[in-house]
Amino acid sequence: MKTERTQIPDLLQIIGGQAHAKRAIEVAAVTGMSIVLIGPPGSGKTMLEAAYRVLAEPFTPDVVEAWPCPCGYLGDLSRACRCRPPAVFRHQARLAAAIEEYQCDVQIEVPAVAYRELRAVGSGEPLAAVRLRILRARAFGEGRPAGGGEELDLDGHRLLEVCEDRLGLSARRLASAKRVARLIADLEENPRIRAAHLAEAVQYSGIGELRR
Ligand SMILES: [Zn+2]
Repeated sequence: MKTERTQIPDLLQIIGGQAHAKRAIEVAAVTGMSIVLIGPPGSGKTMLEAAYRVLAEPFTPDVVEAWPCPCGYLGDLSRACRCRPPAVFRHQARLAAAIEEYQCDVQIEVPAVAYRELRAVGSGEPLAAVRLRILRARAFGEGRPAGGGEELDLDGHRLLEVCEDRLGLSARRLASAKRVARLIADLEENPRIRAAHLAEAVQYSGIGELRR
């Protein structure tokens, strides 16, 4: 008798596209940072949150899911936002307050998914492979004193100065970018934070997410 094997869908591969968001939850999962997922309805925020909770297994991180505006479609290329500017402003002020309250170190934009990316469902790296990298990064970072290993090279310092001066990143966000850069280096099992790690970390620091 032939038995049908039911394939359990992989929690990461079931999300079409969203490579940037998938990478962000991988980084945050190393120490279970609080995250905020900002995107329009149907972009995959809830699936990403589920995958994040699995990857962050020993931690119980706060996760904020939010629309970028009251109607949800601000910045979406496929549908126009119909919100009036004051309503958008109020919405984003509330969102900024929530981000502060939960001290979200990693802010992730989850844009509307293009049709061709939806067809990519079932491809991409499986959750188990990402989980393995996270476990190795945790082992690599174990035993390091809090705040240790966060020394930057000259390029890293220059990059932080640019972020502070030109992008107006607050001291809290700069410190958080350094913590996130440390985790990105840990994922590579690299004892030093390089400018490239910091450049990636800054992308998760909320620059431009509120478009202020
Ligand atoms: Zn809107």
